[in-house]
Amino acid sequence: MRLDKLIQGKKAVVFWSGIANLEYLGIIRNALTLTLPVVIAGAMGVLINNFPVAIYQTFMQDVFGDGWRSFGSYVWDGTLAVLSPVMVFTIGFNIAERYNLKNPLDAIHPVIVGLLAFCSLLAIMEPSTKDFAIPYNWVGIHGLFLAIITGVVSAEFFISLYKRRILRVRFFSEESGAAMSGVFSALIPAIATISAFALFKVFMSTLGVNDIHSLIYGMISRPFAGLGNNLGAAVLYNFARQFLWFLGIHGSNAMEPVMTEIYVSAMKANELAISLGETQPFIITKTFFDTYVSMGGAGNTLSLLIALFTVKKGSGMKKIAQISLLPAVFNINETLLFGMPLVLNPIYIFPFIATPIALTVVTYYVASFGLLPSSGAEVAWTTPVFLSGYAAAGSAAGSVMQLVNLSLGFLIYLPFVHVAERVQRFKFEATYNELLKASGNLESTYATLTDRPGEIGAISRVLANDLLNSIKRNELFLEYQPQVDCTTGRVVGVEALLRWKHANIGRVPPSLFIVLAEEIGFIDEIGIWVCEESCRQVKEWRDKGLTGVVMSFNVSVKQLGDADLPEKILDCIEKYGLDPSCMKAEVTESTGLSSDMGHNILLEEIRRLGVKIAIDDFGMGHSSLVYLKQFPVAMIKLDGSLVKDVAVSKISSDIISSISELCKSMEIELLAEFVETESQARMLKELGCHIFQGWLYSAALSPHACEEAIIKGFRTY
Ligand code: C2E
Ligand code: MG
Ligand code: MG
Repeated sequence: MRLDKLIQGKKAVVFWSGIANLEYLGIIRNALTLTLPVVIAGAMGVLINNFPVAIYQTFMQDVFGDGWRSFGSYVWDGTLAVLSPVMVFTIGFNIAERYNLKNPLDAIHPVIVGLLAFCSLLAIMEPSTKDFAIPYNWVGIHGLFLAIITGVVSAEFFISLYKRRILRVRFFSEESGAAMSGVFSALIPAIATISAFALFKVFMSTLGVNDIHSLIYGMISRPFAGLGNNLGAAVLYNFARQFLWFLGIHGSNAMEPVMTEIYVSAMKANELAISLGETQPFIITKTFFDTYVSMGGAGNTLSLLIALFTVKKGSGMKKIAQISLLPAVFNINETLLFGMPLVLNPIYIFPFIATPIALTVVTYYVASFGLLPSSGAEVAWTTPVFLSGYAAAGSAAGSVMQLVNLSLGFLIYLPFVHVAERVQRFKFEATYNELLKASGNLESTYATLTDRPGEIGAISRVLANDLLNSIKRNELFLEYQPQVDCTTGRVVGVEALLRWKHANIGRVPPSLFIVLAEEIGFIDEIGIWVCEESCRQVKEWRDKGLTGVVMSFNVSVKQLGDADLPEKILDCIEKYGLDPSCMKAEVTESTGLSSDMGHNILLEEIRRLGVKIAIDDFGMGHSSLVYLKQFPVAMIKLDGSLVKDVAVSKISSDIISSISELCKSMEIELLAEFVETESQARMLKELGCHIFQGWLYSAALSPHACEEAIIKGFRTY
């Protein structure tokens, strides 16, 4: 319990978030995750060729002939076989994006940096035996470690040069546009970056090192040479293999010499003993690792996968688990290594290393007590769990051992899966709160939310896409806030307020999603949906005998660009056979209402239908009394910022008093929004305003609750 708290407590989550967000680790992990579509396609290619069922293999052979594996191989050739350059590109790209986020006015096109990283990697590789060809031997997963380092170093080197304005070639021509000038600014730093990597390669060659990858791999496996076949060595082998994977180095390949020298020869010795009818001399063999400690792939990731299925529905982690399940059954775990990712993920480093070690120790002792027959011949690596156990031990004891190990691994991974889930939520909430703040302050460097770089832009784009499906998925609904005549307590109107219940996030505030809808041009469709739904509600109430309540619906200024708007509104009203005078369109005047744009003509058309027009949020920043002359206004809604301090500020009460006088002489109705206290209500009444909307009476209500409020009415002031 205490250990659990230590790992998963509130303070611990803050600590984990700090570590997980370490800048470079975050960038690289993000870059790895972006390659997931490529990785999944590659894993499928491997599976198509290696699906370990004899009938399938014969069927494919019979139908497609000898070359049936070509398709899967070509998929692999284009994906996992070239994963290093793919990833080096995304790493460079991501580092440039982070730079742009911090320096929006000095942004560099991220593709340029991605390409540079790609070229730098090719520049330092050992060329293929065929002249000029891309060297296939190191561009796959084996080459990833050098790719990660090259990505980071080349991008940072390039940016450090790019920051020096003196190195930028200035170029601007009206014909070729501003994009070209960005390309020219990058010219000298780009050439210098590639040159630096080429020089590094020249330097290494003079030292006699042509193949840097081999050098790295050689250095890694050397200290392990000469280890004996005992439990301590096996633990060390596991530790090294997993830690290398964590660093992005193909652990199994890097430790291949150790594997061949100690564990493959042990496997062969066991095989020979079995054929001679003798007892097997070794417990720990290649088959031992493949069967009992690498179920689902390095790190016993099948246990992790099962643990991932315990997280909440709808989380990204669960989605990755679902995608990874089929390949993992056949021990293909690239989707987890690079999708979660496990590589460079400090949250998972402990269970990723500890699980195989723990399983090695447990299995070793079970076998040495004679409860598990030593493993014999090699089992095909794609053989699913339980079958592979049976084949390795030659009895069901092997499958039982696998079940025990799977469960043990599950228990080790589980707390960390929940930490990762919380850290993700923590991070999402922080960005989401920033987004909410940003939606209220659009006049920053970026005019739109969806165009912003980084996480805020990413979440905005996801939400904007989800919003497009919100009507079809029935996620939108209306709440109604009563508008009350304070002298009679009667509800004279209601305002329809749009709500969006997002499947994962829950309620998204209208201040955010209306902005998004306006940005992506979806506001016309949403606006008409609101109009129609509020008409339907009026009809439902009228059929129940509730009349005399005017329904207000909000109209965004962006909708006033649609010349067909009056006709669409009329269609809604006629569909339910309503009298247009029971509907009122509220237009917010702070958002660019202008007669120059023809808004007055459109509003006049709507008024002529018989629909009333109200100006919303009157008194906020952009207010102008000219509106009263230019637009056919039936009602003014005083903004909350004026109403808030009406009882304490002489200026606010003076302004409201003059607006009230003006409304009286122009026969415009006056409503005060955001009325929250009795003293505000009394003061407003004294100033000549007596229709109120606000929490003093009621917040926005469900249709049913609003119906009850209309019937009951409210107290008078
Ligand atoms: P609005 O039209 O000015 O709506 C009034 C907002 O004030 C509502 O917020 C309401 O819940 C809130 N409110 C009401 N009484 C009080 C009070 O006493 N105190 C405080 N602090 N707040 C109060 P909501 O529902 O979050 O809507 C925010 C804005 O989103 C609306 O401001 C409106 O501009 C926009 N909106 C909502 N529904 C629609 C819609 O269907 N179409 C369009 N275009 N915009 C909409
Ligand atoms: Mg409104
Ligand atoms: Mg308002």
